[in-house]
Amino acid sequence: MKRLYVGVDLGGTNVRSGLVDEDGTVLSRDTRKTLARESAEAPVKQIVDSITESVRAGGSSFSEIRGIGIGSPGPLDARKGKILRAGNLPHWINFPLTDIIKERVDVDTYLQNDANMFAFGEWWMGAGRGIDDFFVLTLGTGIGGGAVCGGKLLTGFNDNACEFGHTSIDYNGAQCWCGQKGCIELYSSATGIVRITLEELANEHIETSLSEYRTNPEGFNSHVLFKAAEAGDTFALSMFDKAGYLLGLALLNAHNLLNFKRVAIGGGLARSGELIFEPARRAFRDRGFQSFIHEVEIVPAEKPDDAAMLGAVRLVMEKEAGS
Ligand SMILES: [Zn+2]
Repeated sequence: MKRLYVGVDLGGTNVRSGLVDEDGTVLSRDTRKTLARESAEAPVKQIVDSITESVRAGGSSFSEIRGIGIGSPGPLDARKGKILRAGNLPHWINFPLTDIIKERVDVDTYLQNDANMFAFGEWWMGAGRGIDDFFVLTLGTGIGGGAVCGGKLLTGFNDNACEFGHTSIDYNGAQCWCGQKGCIELYSSATGIVRITLEELANEHIETSLSEYRTNPEGFNSHVLFKAAEAGDTFALSMFDKAGYLLGLALLNAHNLLNFKRVAIGGGLARSGELIFEPARRAFRDRGFQSFIHEVEIVPAEKPDDAAMLGAVRLVMEKEAGS
């Protein structure tokens, strides 16, 4: 019989869990609302209910589960299993999540940063299979990053490695909440591309189908921008080009540090496809080391919905193996 695990992808909006076997096959899934803003207990109950349902739907029981892995927004302390303070889980401050889950279901539980888990899952079962040096980006409201270096997840001294979204591409750029200026997520995330587009739209000489948002940005979002670009709006296309090119430059900084062979990009804005990928690849070609940069691939994530959950399972397997 195959060894069974539960992976949890905890987000501010939804909690997703799944029963997964040692080969990375997802046997069942459950998704429900996180209820992050209600109380400290509400998301705990949602997690416990979700994993209970995943185990039941997969035809198993908690006594057969080797461990539970949770990918969560940080900052967190993975070694202690604590959420330190996550912006979208406001009631959890120094919150001992793994102890609480273990107490409820009597299964060993482990915690890691969600973007790191996304990277680990893509490396195990997605776009990073067979690649020892691999990098992942998620383009959502913010930008997350994760790296596998030499076949090992890069965690850093306190498990907050690869905060790629907060690497700067402009030392005098817009002020970010993190303390830095010009962070790449202010330009190339779903909210970043909207921000830079509205900034440029203030120029009244620009001709675009989006001019109605010049004075009233309500209802303007990255999807509206995508639709305009898809319809051939030159201004909208140029904004994707800018966001993608800047993303490529930030990625080049990461590449010069980590020397990964492949990077996979996931998250909502990655669905814009070549509008983002082509300029990112172009930045790489323009500015990277010409002797080898052509060997580095920029590809879409293959398991955008399951990767964090799968990575959390892989984390438990590595803990079991004692590494
Ligand atoms: Zn920042």
